[in-house]
Amino acid sequence: MADISIRLPDGSRHSFDQGATATTVAESIGSRLSKAAVAAVVNGEEWDLNRPLPDEAAVAIITGESEEGRHVLRHSTAHVMAQAVTQLFPGAKFSIGPAIENGFYYDFDLPDGKTFSDDDLATIESKMGEIIKANQSFVRDELSPKDALKLFANQPYKREIIERVSAGAADNDDAAEIGGGETISIYRNTDDFVDLCKGPHVPSTGRIGHFKLQKVAGAYWRGNEKGPMLQRIYGTAWESKAALAEHLHRLEEAEKRDHRKLATELDLLSFPHELGGGLAVWHPKGAIVRKLMEDYSRGRHDKGGYQFVFTPHLSNGNLFEKSGHLGFYKDGMYPPMEMDNGTYYMKPMNCPMHCLIFAARQRSYRELPMRLFELGTVYRYERAGTLHGLMRIRGFTQDDSHIYCTEDQMQDEIASLLDFVMSVLRAFGFDDFTANLSTKDPNKYVGDDAIWDKATEALRAVLVKYGLPFKIKEGDAAFYGPKIDIDVKDAIGRTWQLSTIQADFNHPERFDLEYIGADNARHRPIMLHRALFGSFERFFGVLLEHYAGAFPTWMAPVQARVLPVAEAHQAHAAEVVERLAAEGFRIDIVDANDQLGKRIRNAKLEKLPYVLVVGDDDVAAGTLGVNPRGGEVERGVPLDEFVNRLHAEVDAQLAVT
Ligand SMILES: [Zn+2]
Ligand SMILES: [Zn+2]
Repeated sequence: MADISIRLPDGSRHSFDQGATATTVAESIGSRLSKAAVAAVVNGEEWDLNRPLPDEAAVAIITGESEEGRHVLRHSTAHVMAQAVTQLFPGAKFSIGPAIENGFYYDFDLPDGKTFSDDDLATIESKMGEIIKANQSFVRDELSPKDALKLFANQPYKREIIERVSAGAADNDDAAEIGGGETISIYRNTDDFVDLCKGPHVPSTGRIGHFKLQKVAGAYWRGNEKGPMLQRIYGTAWESKAALAEHLHRLEEAEKRDHRKLATELDLLSFPHELGGGLAVWHPKGAIVRKLMEDYSRGRHDKGGYQFVFTPHLSNGNLFEKSGHLGFYKDGMYPPMEMDNGTYYMKPMNCPMHCLIFAARQRSYRELPMRLFELGTVYRYERAGTLHGLMRIRGFTQDDSHIYCTEDQMQDEIASLLDFVMSVLRAFGFDDFTANLSTKDPNKYVGDDAIWDKATEALRAVLVKYGLPFKIKEGDAAFYGPKIDIDVKDAIGRTWQLSTIQADFNHPERFDLEYIGADNARHRPIMLHRALFGSFERFFGVLLEHYAGAFPTWMAPVQARVLPVAEAHQAHAAEVVERLAAEGFRIDIVDANDQLGKRIRNAKLEKLPYVLVVGDDDVAAGTLGVNPRGGEVERGVPLDEFVNRLHAEVDAQLAVT
C-alpha cells in the first residue's frame, strides 16, 4: 500500500510505503546513489538515512563526495574515535567532537592527568578499525534533559552541555553537539558507548573507514584558559581511499612548501622574537622579490588609470569615530595612544583616509571614476594563538584602492576592476579563479534596497560575463555593501582567497561625500573598495608556497649564478657577470675555492633559475655551460645567445594579460 508522498529535488513526486526512509528513496533511484549516500536533507534539515520519512517530505540525498557528506563522515569518525578512546582509557571523559575543514577532532580528559603520546594514536586507530569492522549501527534516541543527565552521570562535560542547553544558554560549541528543544538526542553504538549528538550520522560504522589520526594538542575546555586543559586528537576522514591518499599527499607537499621554512632556508625574511609576534623583517633577498612585486603592481596601476596617494600610519581617534571603525571594528584595533592633542590609533584600514582625500575639495562628475591607490600599511590586532607566519600577521601592507564613481558608472567600473585583478594575478602564475558573492543580510544593513540590488546585480553580472564559477553567500555581506571575493587555486590544489571588490554605501554617507553632477546638483558617489593581492605579506607567503621557493625568473632574487670551474677561469667568469649585470639581470658569482659539484648543489638548494659554468673551452670561445633549474645542461652556449634567451624568458613571463 503506497501511502506517503515524497518530493525529490527535481520536483518529481513519488509514493512509498509508510515507514519508508531516505535509504528506501535512494535505493529506488539507483544502486550507485544508495551506495554513496551518507545522510539526507529532509524538509531542509539534515537527517539520518534510516529515519522514517513523514508524508509530503522534500528529500535530497547527501553523498560522501559532497562537502555536507564529508562532514557527516568526519563527525561519525569522531564518534568512533571517542568510543575507541573510552575503551582503551577507562575513565576517560569526553567533551566535544565536531567535524572541521578536512577532518575532525575530539577533546578528552584522561584520568590522573594522563596525556596521549604519538604511539597512542596508532593504538587508537587500530581500535577504531575494530569498531568499523564490527559495523555497529548508530541508533538515534531522544530523551528528556533529566534522563540525559542520568545517562551521562559520569561525563561532566556532557552534563554541562545538557545543563546549558536546557537553561537556554547554549553557545556555538553546545549547538554543534545537540539541537535545541524539549528533548535531547543521543546516538548509541553499543550498550557501552553513547554520545550526545544532534546528528545526522551514517547508518553504521562500516560506512566509514578512510581516516587517519594526525596529532595531539592541548585545548582548553570552551577555549577558556582558566578552565581545564583537555587533550585534543585531530584526524582526517574521506569518502574513499583515493581521496584520503590525495589529501595526505597534499599535506606532505604543503609541509615541504611551508613558507616559514622556505623563508628561513632561502634567507628571505624572519620573525625575530625581539620584535614580538606577528611582525616580520625582510632580508635583502626577500626584499628584492617584494620590490619587484611592488614595482610591477605600481606599473600596472599607473597604466590602469589609478592615482597614487600616501596616508599616515596613525590617526586621531576622531577619524575612526567618524568612519565607524571604533564602533564596529574596535576589537581588531590596537589600544589607543594618549598624545598631546588627543587620542591616537594605528590605522586598521586605509579607507577613511582616502575619503578625506576625496572630501578635501569640491568634486565634479568629470573627475569620476576617481581611482585612488596606495600601498598602505595597516595594523590589526590578532590573538597570539592565531598568528601564522605571513598568512596571519599584525602589521601588513595592502595594495589598497578606493574607487569613487557615479551610480551609472558602477557596473562598468566593477567589470574593469575584475578584469584588472585577474590580469595582474595571472602575471604571478595564477589562472584558476573562483569567486564568492556575498549578499545583503536583511537584518543588518545600511543604504536603500534599490542601490543594494543594483550593486549586487552589477557584481553578479560581471562574474557571469567573465564566466567565473561562483557561489552566492546569502546574507554574508558586511552591513555596508555587497562584495565579491576572488579565490585562486595554487600548484597543489589549495584555494586561497586573495582579492576583494566591495561596494560601500556607508563611508560616503558618514563622510558626507558629494560631487557636482552634469545637472549642477549635488550627488553622493558610490565607493568601491578593492584589494588585489590582499596584502604584500600574505601574497608573498602564498607565492612562496605556490612556487615552493622556485620563483619564476622575472622575480627570482638571483636569476643566475656564475661558477668558474677553476682559478684560471675566474677572469672570464667575472666578464660574464659584468655583461649580464649590465643587461639588468641579478647575477652573482661563487669563486673556485670549493669543488664545482658542491657549488652546483648549493645553487640548486637556493633554487636559482640558472647556474652558468665556465671552463677552458668557454674561455677560448666566449661561451658558457647553461644548467637551468629542472632542465638539461647545455654546453658551449654563446654569451650573446644566453642574454637574448634570458630577456625573452622574462619578457614572456611578464607579457601575461
Ligand atoms: Zn554526533
Ligand atoms: Zn577600503
